[in-house]
Amino acid sequence: MSNEQNSGIIIPAGAAPRVGFVSLGCPKAGSDAEQILTKLRAEGYEIAPTYDGADLVIVNTCGFIDAAVEESLDAIGEALSENGKVIVTGCLGAKGDIVQTTHPSVLAVTGPHAADEVMGHVHTHLPKPHDPYVDLVPPAGVRLTPDHFAYLKISEGCNHSCTFCIIPSLRGPLVSRPIGDVLKEAEALAESGVKELLIISQDTSAYGVDVKYRTGFWGGRPVKTRLKELCEALGELGIWVRLHYVYPYPSVDDLIPLMAEGKILPYLDIPFQHASPRILKAMRRPASAENVLERIAKWRSICPDITIRSTFITGFPGETDEDFEQLLQFLETARLDRVGCFPYSPVEGAEANELAGLPPLEVREERRQVLMEVQADISAEKLAAKIDREMTVLVDAVDDDGTLARSAGEAPEIDGLVILDGFHDAEPGDFIQVRIVDSDEHDLYAEPI
Ligand code: SF4
Repeated sequence: MSNEQNSGIIIPAGAAPRVGFVSLGCPKAGSDAEQILTKLRAEGYEIAPTYDGADLVIVNTCGFIDAAVEESLDAIGEALSENGKVIVTGCLGAKGDIVQTTHPSVLAVTGPHAADEVMGHVHTHLPKPHDPYVDLVPPAGVRLTPDHFAYLKISEGCNHSCTFCIIPSLRGPLVSRPIGDVLKEAEALAESGVKELLIISQDTSAYGVDVKYRTGFWGGRPVKTRLKELCEALGELGIWVRLHYVYPYPSVDDLIPLMAEGKILPYLDIPFQHASPRILKAMRRPASAENVLERIAKWRSICPDITIRSTFITGFPGETDEDFEQLLQFLETARLDRVGCFPYSPVEGAEANELAGLPPLEVREERRQVLMEVQADISAEKLAAKIDREMTVLVDAVDDDGTLARSAGEAPEIDGLVILDGFHDAEPGDFIQVRIVDSDEHDLYAEPI
């Protein structure tokens, strides 16, 4: 194989799926190559020394000067004619669509420093057979949730600096997972029988900001690393997709039509934390309450069935009776479906600990109770409005008393349930059609149709 500047690395072939590797370019490209090769070997792939002994070839390219571009394009052409199955990575992959235009038959293209993304493509085009005697992890990975729902983490860290939170100092700035990897994992979970994906991160709306919404690849097609595109792609899996920890950035508005069209669940878990502009500023939160109210109204006009869940903090340092009253007014107007609330609790290392005016613990707790009482009436009214409606529910459990399920409006573990008393003709993971017959402030009661 071509190995003009950095050597193509050659390791004796074995019986496992075999990948050929051509590496061009500078030491940085060489280091990328090492990472990919390490991952390939760790996962049990063999590295093939010849094109015809390989099941697939990865070409690690350089795009620094014209001569390097030329050389990289030639190397891709050679690999295509000698082998036919080619994944391209490296700097040339980041230079617009020059690779796809010159060589449209390549399987996938990534930019540099994309070992995980490259591995995602390798998994797509050359899956490693699962070996139950060797592989500790089942094909869908290890999960702590029941078989029918799973959490899917799309990024780690956070670029905000909310004064009550130490996550950015613990986990660092936002790092989005390559979209190809996320979608691949989602696909594997769906194939393993998962019926509901719960999308999580510290800041779900910010997905892709750190990589400037870089284009990744899924199933050979380009997909931008951005929440809307991720949701559209997840919507193709035919299972429920539920969004958590969504901050009210303007881009969230683009997700609501996807909910109205049924591509993802009409459910937003969106932590507002407060409604007083003064407190939001002290918290260093990005959104103002007025704007939020307008946007909630707009979201509901586009998707009337949307369930909005939020969390709030009472007794933040400096919170006055007026600030708290403003928060209650917000709740009365916003009429959110589900609300969680915590009394402010100083976290070691958080900036907010230095702020003046921390209300006594009793006041923080009393305000929490008042808030939850106000919200209990709102939640009860919203649930009562669902009586007589027919809906699809996902069964979580069946016991002696009947069936516990959830509709689009209830996330597992944090919201209420749809309870079918005395109904046993279902299994966890079944979707069933029900009619709502009763409600209280947390749960709905239903009969199968
Ligand atoms: S509260 Fe959320 S958005 Fe704010 S800093 Fe912590 S993780 Fe980031």
